[in-house]
Amino acid sequence: MSVKIVVGLEGRAYDVLVGQGLLQRAGETIAPLLKHRRTAVVSDETVWGLHGASLSASLEAHGIKVSPIIIAPGEQTKSFAGLEQVIDRLLDLELDRGDLITAFGGGVVGDLSGFAAAIFKRGVDFVQIPTTLLAQVDSSVGGKTAIDTPRGKNLVGAFHQPRLVLADLDVLATLPARQMRAGYAEVIKYGLLGDFEFFEWLEVNALAVMAREPDALAHCVARSIAKKAEIVAQDETEQGRRALLNLGHTFAHALEAETGYGEALLHGEAVAAGMALALRFSASLGFCTSQDAERAGAAIAAAGLPTRLQDIQARPFSADVLVRHMMQDKKAEGGKLTFILARGLGQAFVAKDVNAAAVTSFLKSQGAA
Ligand code: NAD
Repeated sequence: MSVKIVVGLEGRAYDVLVGQGLLQRAGETIAPLLKHRRTAVVSDETVWGLHGASLSASLEAHGIKVSPIIIAPGEQTKSFAGLEQVIDRLLDLELDRGDLITAFGGGVVGDLSGFAAAIFKRGVDFVQIPTTLLAQVDSSVGGKTAIDTPRGKNLVGAFHQPRLVLADLDVLATLPARQMRAGYAEVIKYGLLGDFEFFEWLEVNALAVMAREPDALAHCVARSIAKKAEIVAQDETEQGRRALLNLGHTFAHALEAETGYGEALLHGEAVAAGMALALRFSASLGFCTSQDAERAGAAIAAAGLPTRLQDIQARPFSADVLVRHMMQDKKAEGGKLTFILARGLGQAFVAKDVNAAAVTSFLKSQGAA
């Protein structure tokens, strides 16, 4: 059984299917999108090892030839070198503009192969089969594709919408608990930014989601995607409302930059702490109550995610260094910082003119040196 959410972009609308058994039905779902009975499947070694056989079997059962392109797992593959590797293989396979790429993995595979699809022979179609909670609720929907450079994350990329997204809940069974929690941070984000009812549901059901109870997981993933789809359909290229999806991200990117974008602090963990900080910052500026900030923090902590700087590392972060990272962020305009702040739970807004000095003193109040 699956539910369908439509990302309603004019002329390029696509379906996101959420449910169980979608991998086994991938052949029949993808076949109608193909001009030639073949697809290049980009995946990482871990995902391909765990689930590659069932995806291949389903595609091959529908006469679709599978050409796997298997990359090393991890953020470091989302690079120019990783992109070159994928593009080289696509050229070897002699894919043409009528072919379709299948991105089968977490956000790293999705972002990298989506970008490869955007630029290969000036653009080919692609399908997303996200295999992490983060990729299902966030990165596979909305068409943002990118690679990182040594100067920062996601600095080179394109908007390129997929033709279809298959979010199979069964594949999450093999996802390590830490990755599950990291994805859950992006789930709470939807509640906090604009869906108070969902936030309240999460307060009650966090553990059921973490335990991957099918009904709770299905509701959680579908509701998150529906929220993202609604926002993307209103503002595809982030001229306005889509920026709300960056709740917690200004703090998060600075924390990730300081901790080296790796295992020390996963993106979702940084977003968790970043959202808790954003709510407390909102309270300190008088936009929301400290009770709201505490309630948001409690919901994040209940999932085992960090909410305070001390939860990330015992040694204090430097407030000045964190703010310097924020100033380098692509969202900093004219010396002012952009933050997503909140007037209450489920009531986020974009603040474009936040003073760096106010951020520095707030971070010091939170234990930064
Ligand atoms: P990831 O792709 O690195 O996956 C995390 C780890 O889980 C990897 O080691 C992977 O091999 C493993 N894995 C994936 N699926 C698995 C499964 N079913 N079972 C067992 N192991 C599995 O990381 P991620 O958290 O999915 O994505 C992070 C990336 O997404 C970052 O690069 C971030 O910038 C990007 N992102 C993009 C958007 C967007 O809108 N495009 C939004 C949010 C995040």
